[in-house]
Amino acid sequence: MRISIFGTGYVGSVTGICIADLGHEIIFTDIDTAKLNLIDHGQIPVFEPGLQQILTKNKKKISTNTNPIEAIINTDISFICVGTPSREDGSLDTRSIESVSQTLGEGIGKKKNFHTIVVKSTVIPGTIEELILPIIMKESHKQVNNDFSVVSNPEFLREGNAVYDFFHPDRIIIGSNTPESYRPLSELYSSFSCPKMVTTIKTAEMIKYVNNAFLATKISFANEIGNICKEAGIDSYEVFKGVGMDSRINPRFFRSGIGFGGSCFPKDVRALIVYSKKVGIEPGILEAILDTNQDQPSRLVSLLKRHMDLKGKTIGILGLAFKPETDDIRESRAIPIIRQLIADGANVLAFDPVAMKNFQRIFPNIEYATTSNRVLETDAVLIITEWSEFENLDYTNKIVIDGRNIKKARKNARIYEGVCW
Ligand code: NAD
Repeated sequence: MRISIFGTGYVGSVTGICIADLGHEIIFTDIDTAKLNLIDHGQIPVFEPGLQQILTKNKKKISTNTNPIEAIINTDISFICVGTPSREDGSLDTRSIESVSQTLGEGIGKKKNFHTIVVKSTVIPGTIEELILPIIMKESHKQVNNDFSVVSNPEFLREGNAVYDFFHPDRIIIGSNTPESYRPLSELYSSFSCPKMVTTIKTAEMIKYVNNAFLATKISFANEIGNICKEAGIDSYEVFKGVGMDSRINPRFFRSGIGFGGSCFPKDVRALIVYSKKVGIEPGILEAILDTNQDQPSRLVSLLKRHMDLKGKTIGILGLAFKPETDDIRESRAIPIIRQLIADGANVLAFDPVAMKNFQRIFPNIEYATTSNRVLETDAVLIITEWSEFENLDYTNKIVIDGRNIKKARKNARIYEGVCW
């Protein structure tokens, strides 16, 4: 099949490059031409383990086009993978979705063959039928299901594990209002043996939000229990190990720490809160998830202050990415923590294996270390991201406040505090 990918960020680049590996022809398009340039030069546009090798292997099947209309005309399927960030009030910012829908409408208007549009971007229930479809119909002057179709295919990949997740999904969700519309997608996924669920478009859109909201609930619940455990002198890691053995609960994603960040959980829970209120339901649990998450990073700084006055001290930061194995710093817990340290008069020396370049854009004035070892030469160290290399450092004689349960630090530091243990 010939497939165009709109948006070459974390989701678009993984989706396109991995689909090429299944044997299909891919055309990437993006308003950010720097990303397209990188792909043209055989380089991945985002950091994602394993992706570079798959791009190199499939380079002949992958091209880019800065003219999105040509990309539509020359393909049978288009994947929408553009960003859907939060607006100020927490609702979904649909500007990229609207603009890509207009382009798709224009392209489909110029096409003779049937075109299938697959929405991978996370969109609030109703967005496809009430926003995307009307725009495409208006721009193209064509009829849905006669000339083109739109299906929902929410994405569940985890940054840092995205290539594995693409090839080994837990399940594939397809939202479609007619069996005809999702046939090309079924064909595309025919080699995957995981469960495939076909449902209505609106239900598929909702499944993605509920999925993320539930995982975020698990984390905030673990953090609240973790805070109780910390004050009571109980190791919450041991508690969750025991509780997670209950098959109804499961141990995965059941860990306390400094809360969730990233480009998905915070904005998706916020958007679900706004949607919930719109349909007349007061979302008490959803709001509590965000409140707990908001307070969690400041606990790390409070624990540090139990050991020193921060004014004039240099505090080392290990980890800036919102999770290991990614350079994504969107809503990273390092951001509020560093802001608080600076407000308290401390100097900051930070290190991350891959995310420092992105972080420098928002914090150009803090100091960055060239190695993780350099960070240990500070007055105290805060561990923010659980990169595996932090397990190999020598924390002897150091003061360490740990947000991620790094065993070596826990064992060897002179003064050690875990945020929830
Ligand atoms: P991203 O910000 O990394 O990438 C989005 C890309 O879309 C950018 O390169 C941007 O330039 C491009 N873009 C914006 N407007 C465009 C347009 N009109 N035409 C073409 N390209 C355009 O975003 P992401 O992290 O890949 O997320 C994309 C979507 O997938 C979001 O809705 C997100 O919620 C969802 N999602 C993300 C993840 C994740 O782990 N990142 C996981 C599951 C779902």
